[in-house]
Amino acid sequence: LVVLGIETSCDDTAAAVVRGNGEILSQVVSSQADLLAKYGGVAPKMAEEAHSQVIDQVVQEALDKANLTARNLSAVAVTIGPGLSLCLRVGVRKARKLAGSFNLPIISIHHMEAHCLVARLIERELEFPFMALLISGGHNLLILAHDLGHYIQLGTTIDDAIGEAYDKTAKWLGLDMSRSGGPALEELAREGDAESIKFSTPMKQHRDCNFSYAGLKTQVRLAIGSHNINAEIPISSASSQDRRSRADIAASFQRVAVLHLEERCDRAIEWARKIEPSIKHLVVSGGVASNQYVRARLEHVVKKNNLQLVCPPPKLCTDNGVMVAWTGIEHFCMGRFDPPPPADEHEDYVYDLRPRWPLGEEYAEGRSEAR
Ligand code: ATP
Ligand code: FE
Repeated sequence: LVVLGIETSCDDTAAAVVRGNGEILSQVVSSQADLLAKYGGVAPKMAEEAHSQVIDQVVQEALDKANLTARNLSAVAVTIGPGLSLCLRVGVRKARKLAGSFNLPIISIHHMEAHCLVARLIERELEFPFMALLISGGHNLLILAHDLGHYIQLGTTIDDAIGEAYDKTAKWLGLDMSRSGGPALEELAREGDAESIKFSTPMKQHRDCNFSYAGLKTQVRLAIGSHNINAEIPISSASSQDRRSRADIAASFQRVAVLHLEERCDRAIEWARKIEPSIKHLVVSGGVASNQYVRARLEHVVKKNNLQLVCPPPKLCTDNGVMVAWTGIEHFCMGRFDPPPPADEHEDYVYDLRPRWPLGEEYAEGRSEAR
């Protein structure tokens, strides 16, 4: 079994080839970070064009590096949501063209399920049921994974995701955004004093497992104003005192942003154990999970709760094709796939795209638990 995975839901164009036994034969990611830095965010039309320009090349490279042709594939897996429809369409079109030409089944993938399940590729002991904290640019999810395709959402963000807060804070601190804001902020935070500014932890009064990062963003913006930090002056040109205050803000932000994760995880583990007393693992994945401080703090949380942490290597935490191929393999093995599309499918064919697509059902008892 050999599956090609294609991912275009946001700003990375990614493809990978993975074997049924989990062997990664190739992985290719083409990032639009330079575009993002230039325009300060993802503009759907521009992202679509960028995906279209590189998709053929990215997929070809993934096949070449795996020493295969499309003829050798068993199936094609592709992200159909959640994400920007203009971007999703580029990946789905490519997947269906390829699958149509080579008579391959198609597997439709949920981007967040892929972030979650890639943990099972790197940790073979990881069996259902388990818990997952998925933290990325657009999502902040606490999930109880009962079984393949069966998820309960214990918590989500009521406004922004943590990755968005990292990105904005990095931008306001004048950091180099040519990668994404997260890694740059993590680096600067190492120089700062995390106790210097007392940001308040979000949602202290809400006894549920939901998240909020909009308020923390506002607190950061105010602190930046009161320290007279000018984002127009890049950190590389800042005076040493200016650099020091920026580092203090970065470290103080990071401490509270992650403390919020810790507190919510603690409670979610309690909830999850009432539903599934046998859980043994907490998976942490999504772009923000590549952060070393985040990993270290959550390692604490799982130890305290007698669980094991499973956190994929950084390259598999941020968007990638491997997670899509692997999730495809999991579904394929359960017989969940679509037949090959017609070889002559028209360009105007209406694809099944799911720009907004919740992962599993909400935990109904959550409201009364929170009282
Ligand atoms: P989603 O998965 O919600 O659709 P996305 O696919 O755009 O969003 P990912 O690629 O999964 O997001 O993650 C990107 C996010 O992860 C960005 O917000 C980025 O700043 C953040 N990130 C990446 N590395 C780090 C890091 N070392 N520290 C903190 N945040 C990070
Ligand atoms: Fe993602």
